[in-house]
Amino acid sequence: MRWTQSLIPTMKESPEGAEIPSHVLMLRAGLIGQVMAGAYTYLPLGLRALRKAEQIVRDEMDRAGAVELLMSALTPIALWERTGRVEAFGNVLINFKVKRQNRQVHMALGPTHEEVITDLVAHHINSYRQLPITLYQIQTKFRNEERPRFGVLRTSEFLMKDAYSFDTSVEGLNASYDKMYQAYCNIFQRCGLAYLPVEAESGPIGGDASHEFMVLSDNGEDRVVHCAACSYAANLERADIGQRIAMKAVTQPEPLTKVDTPNAGSIEQVSKLLKLPPERFIKTLIYVADGNPIAVLLRGDHEANEGKIRRVAKVTKLELAPAEVVQQVTGAPVGFAGPLNLKAPIWADHDVQAIANAVIGANEADKHYTGANMPRDFQVQSYADLRNAGEGDPCPRCAGKLALRHAIEVGHVFKLGTKYSDALDARFLDDKEQQHAAIMGCYGIGINRIVAALIETSHDANGIIWPMSLAPYEVILTPLNVNQEAVMQATNALYEQLQKAGVEVLLDDRDQRPGVKFKDADLIGIPLRVVIGERGLKAGQLEIKWRTEAEPAMIALDGAAEAIATMVREKR
Ligand SMILES: [Zn+2]
Repeated sequence: MRWTQSLIPTMKESPEGAEIPSHVLMLRAGLIGQVMAGAYTYLPLGLRALRKAEQIVRDEMDRAGAVELLMSALTPIALWERTGRVEAFGNVLINFKVKRQNRQVHMALGPTHEEVITDLVAHHINSYRQLPITLYQIQTKFRNEERPRFGVLRTSEFLMKDAYSFDTSVEGLNASYDKMYQAYCNIFQRCGLAYLPVEAESGPIGGDASHEFMVLSDNGEDRVVHCAACSYAANLERADIGQRIAMKAVTQPEPLTKVDTPNAGSIEQVSKLLKLPPERFIKTLIYVADGNPIAVLLRGDHEANEGKIRRVAKVTKLELAPAEVVQQVTGAPVGFAGPLNLKAPIWADHDVQAIANAVIGANEADKHYTGANMPRDFQVQSYADLRNAGEGDPCPRCAGKLALRHAIEVGHVFKLGTKYSDALDARFLDDKEQQHAAIMGCYGIGINRIVAALIETSHDANGIIWPMSLAPYEVILTPLNVNQEAVMQATNALYEQLQKAGVEVLLDDRDQRPGVKFKDADLIGIPLRVVIGERGLKAGQLEIKWRTEAEPAMIALDGAAEAIATMVREKR
């Protein structure tokens, strides 16, 4: 490709509104253009990188025995009603009615395709002889994103690979899952991503039912914990915490004392006012759990983990209580709840037990208590692990400590069980003519996120650093002066020879100063740059420079195409 014939609108400055390196660089390198918040056009260079990621994914899925198909993005709303996911998705499900002759047809743009694929299997598979099967597609998905940001990392429209396995037994599901897990490792490795599989939510199958594939990055929106000693890794929702070390108990219990805390309804405000650290506070959160209020006590500097609370309280729906419920349960406005005389059962996190002379809400506007001690002043129903793990917490598997990191989720594998096959009648007959629901797994990869996560973790001050596997072009040819006939003759000859050798070449044939071209070559991040100049040609030499290296090297002009093609092949 010749630069002047393509569309590569590079930018010198950081565009407004772009907050993180991958977003800035994708815009500056001319990979994408924004159409509206949460929707982007892939420009020629961006599309080439995206297609390469897509092809690696397809390749590894095929190798793992999965079969590709393509489902429609338009789906009838009735399918989503049958599985109860119209409510579950809520505002995320983009759905609308269109007029067809005299009737209204209600449809949704697929945010994922469990319903469509299960309905398909229900129609075409009825015997154990047809199973197992894993079907996949690479297709555009739609999810209304209330706060689109970070470029292509969080959008309402994105390219996804979604795969679904159907098995006759849990053992079969486990085997299908393991194949996908291994395929994912291969994919992310080939894409040059430093990935980390982490334990995620456990589904209906229980046990080791779900993993997310994460790329550690300071700008990632997900949080994961990782133990370097034993390699335990889990997302924050799922992460267990090992045996807690009790805080040093204060030997002298203080009396319970009511103090004025005017307009101070947050731990931070009260902490400043009373000059006591948040670790000395007991935070009282009021939730509505399956319709009933419950109270949860946490140390002031800890975060509640709603998944853990749900499991301990054995409820499915959990929400922070609205102001009127807080008022009913505590007798005070939001911000002053405490464990004394509460009209709700109280659950407390293990770490609460270790706080002596604690600060608690007084269940009265603008008042707190200091010197609260258990069990003298209040009791709790039960202690449990109810909070998010944090940096330095004990590992649940060994004597090591947990590290907390930000990450970008690029893939997810999940053992679904029979939720969808039951709801949509995807059943098969076994060898004794008995009918069973197919046992399913689902497996997603965000293709756009592969590209963004790569850039997020592989760039420098000058621009993107592509691995050969995802680079839009493998080699960029940079003639120093396009007006010199000898230079252009040599450049064009090399361009033709490299293409013949199967190398993907971008020829920067713009009539620009070398400095501008070098900057742009670094910005768009093509792995190998070849400079063709008058002086070098006279000496029978070309300058080559890897994007990852600071200094260029010279190679002989004679046989240069072959030498370059070999170098490229070695890095593929
Ligand atoms: Zn460990």
